Amino acid sequence: MSTLELRQVACGYGDLRVVTDATLEVEAGSVTALLGRNGAGKTTTLRAVAGLNKITSGAATLDGTDLGPLPAYRRARAGIAYVQEGKRIFRSRTVEENLLLGTYAGQSTARGRELMAQMYERFPLLAERRKLRAAQLSGGQQQMLAIAQALIADPRVLLLDEPSAGLAPAIVGQVLDVIRDLRTRGLAILLVEQAVEFALAAADRVVVLNLGRTVYSGQATDPGLREAIRRAYMAEE
Ligand code: ATP
Repeated sequence: MSTLELRQVACGYGDLRVVTDATLEVEAGSVTALLGRNGAGKTTTLRAVAGLNKITSGAATLDGTDLGPLPAYRRARAGIAYVQEGKRIFRSRTVEENLLLGTYAGQSTARGRELMAQMYERFPLLAERRKLRAAQLSGGQQQMLAIAQALIADPRVLLLDEPSAGLAPAIVGQVLDVIRDLRTRGLAILLVEQAVEFALAAADRVVVLNLGRTVYSGQATDPGLREAIRRAYMAEE
C-alpha cells in the first residue's frame, strides 16, 4: 500500500507563495480529486509533489518518506509520475519514441520492453499507430499517449493535470475508463480537474483548494460535498 500525503504544504514560484496549505491524502487503489477555481493553486501543488517547485513549508511524504529533499528525478524513481496539462508529448516524434522517452536510465531493458508491451496491450490504438508521429494523433489519442508515457516508468502514484481538457465528450469517457482501470490496478491517483462532474465520476476523495488553501476534504459520496464545492467556486477573492 503506497500513500501520498501532503500536510500543510506551501509552495510557489520564487518568492511568490501561491499555495499556503495544501493538505490531502491519496491511497493506493484510489483517486483523490483536487478541485478549485482557476488560479487556486492546483497545478502548483502537483508540480511541488513532482519536484518541479520547492516545498517551502509543510511536508509531502510517500509511504512516510519525506519527498522534500529529493530532486524531481529521484521522486520519479520513487514511483511518482506526472502527466502535465496540455499533453506534453513530443509531437514530431513517433508514438513509439514518445513511449521510449518515458522509460528511464535505471530501468532494465527487459523491464522496459515488458512495460512497452503492456502499454500496447492496454492502448491498442497506440499499438496500431506506433510508427506515426504524435502530431498525427487525435487530441484524445495524444492524451492516452501522455498517460501511457507516464505509466511506462511503472509508477505507484500518478499525478494527472486536467486530463479531460479540450477533449470531445465521447473521448472524455475513454479517459475516465483509463483512470478507473488504473485505480483498480492499485495506483494512487491525484487528479486535478476543472470539469467537476468528470472529477466526481472518477474520485473516491475530493479536496477543494481556494486561494492556495485546502477548504474542504471528504469522500466523493459525502452529502455536503456539492455545497462545499459551490461555496469554494463562489467565494470572494
Ligand atoms: P488553472 O486551472 O487555471 O491552471 P490552478 O489552480 O492550477 O488553475 P495554478 O496554475 O497553480 O492554478 O496557478 C496559481 C497561481 O500561480 C496563479 O495566480 C498563477 O498566476 C500563478 N503562477 C502559475 N505559474 C506561475 C509561474 N510560472 N510563475 C509565477 N506565477 C505563476
